[in-house]
Amino acid sequence: MKKQIAILGSTGSIGTQALQVIEEHPDLYEAYVLTANNRAEELIAQARKFKPEAVVIADESKYRLLREALADLPVKVYAGEEALCQIVAETPIDMVLTAMVGYAGLRPTMNAIRAHKPIALANKETLVVAGELINELASLSNVPILPVDSEHSAVFQCLAGEIGNPIEKVILTASGGPFRNCSMEQLATVTKAQALKHPNWDMGAKITIDSASMMNKGFEVIEAKWLFGVRPDQIEVVVHPQSVIHSMVQFEDGAIKAQLGMPDMRLPIQYAFSYPDRLKASFPRLDFKQCTELTFEQPDTTRFRNLALAYEALHRAGNMPCIINAANEAVVAAFLQDRISFLGMSDVIEKTMARVAFIQRPSYEDYVATDAEARRIAGEMIKHA
Ligand code: NAD
Ligand code: MG
Repeated sequence: MKKQIAILGSTGSIGTQALQVIEEHPDLYEAYVLTANNRAEELIAQARKFKPEAVVIADESKYRLLREALADLPVKVYAGEEALCQIVAETPIDMVLTAMVGYAGLRPTMNAIRAHKPIALANKETLVVAGELINELASLSNVPILPVDSEHSAVFQCLAGEIGNPIEKVILTASGGPFRNCSMEQLATVTKAQALKHPNWDMGAKITIDSASMMNKGFEVIEAKWLFGVRPDQIEVVVHPQSVIHSMVQFEDGAIKAQLGMPDMRLPIQYAFSYPDRLKASFPRLDFKQCTELTFEQPDTTRFRNLALAYEALHRAGNMPCIINAANEAVVAAFLQDRISFLGMSDVIEKTMARVAFIQRPSYEDYVATDAEARRIAGEMIKHA
């Protein structure tokens, strides 16, 4: 029996790499559902190639185009947010890969967990916004959440065979992004074109900006708390520009385990699919003849304030991580439209964190309201920035 995989966000960077993994192992995996936000042409091409049971496009105006283009195939076509949330519960699905971007991932992920589907989690924003709720649901439904984010996959791989051995520290590596060596003066004028050029990884626009601003690493700290049950003071970030060590775990005897490899997301995607097995893969190997230097630096939270703000959100807990995520989504969208400066992003985020009402024990409805309120407040500030 082939594992039936639902890929939410199949047209994106993670989604297309997940399809490459499926292509490498046609005897093991099948794409059962493919979904996209609005790139209908890509979704049509994927559907013709992978012949999933169904496709869903969030943008309802693309429904007819999609349906007509796939009329000759036995592929069910749906559109809209509601369909996207419902499809994950279909009986034949064995695993849901959450590879859409942002807060939009929360509801489909919750539904998939309720329907007892194991989650391969790329969409870190879901854990940032509502990690506690997701963990509660997952334990109620007895559903595993397998990390796809390369750092968390590295930690997860280091933890294999360590059942019962407590973690002393999780050490997340960060490339430092394209602006690692920029002064404050330079950061004040960096452009979106510069920010979109990541030195080591080729990713979607939003996470690429998050990497340049180090909000991505801040979010990964929050993600690590929920995935591995560690306290904030047990999560350390170290800048490692080569991105060869994908992250590390320190145990109580002081031993540190690391996972190394080429920066290639297909490995963590495949490991989430195949866990606990490892599968033969054709991905490029790390060659120590080429890789002669591994270096480490401390992150600078003066220049990269987002990292400090994310730790603050994690310490304050409640709906604060939801607030920081919503404010960040608003400023990143604005930065990509040249409506805010690079450093202006952190200013708006910090002020939004101070202005949205704090809730200690948020319900799902509180998260929805918090997200909307934080976007509204951040949006106002962007307009006047
Ligand atoms: P991307 O922008 O390349 O792709 C996003 C996908 O999600 C697309 O298929 C798009 O159609 C879909 N999508 C976007 N908004 C949506 C919405 N509102 N409703 C439904 N679908 C929507 O992004 P990506 O780089 O593939 O990242 C996806 C997720 O994986 C993000 O949460 C990111 O943080 C995480 N992640 C990515 C990488 C990477 O290497 N790209 C690494 C680690 C984690
Ligand atoms: Mg990562």
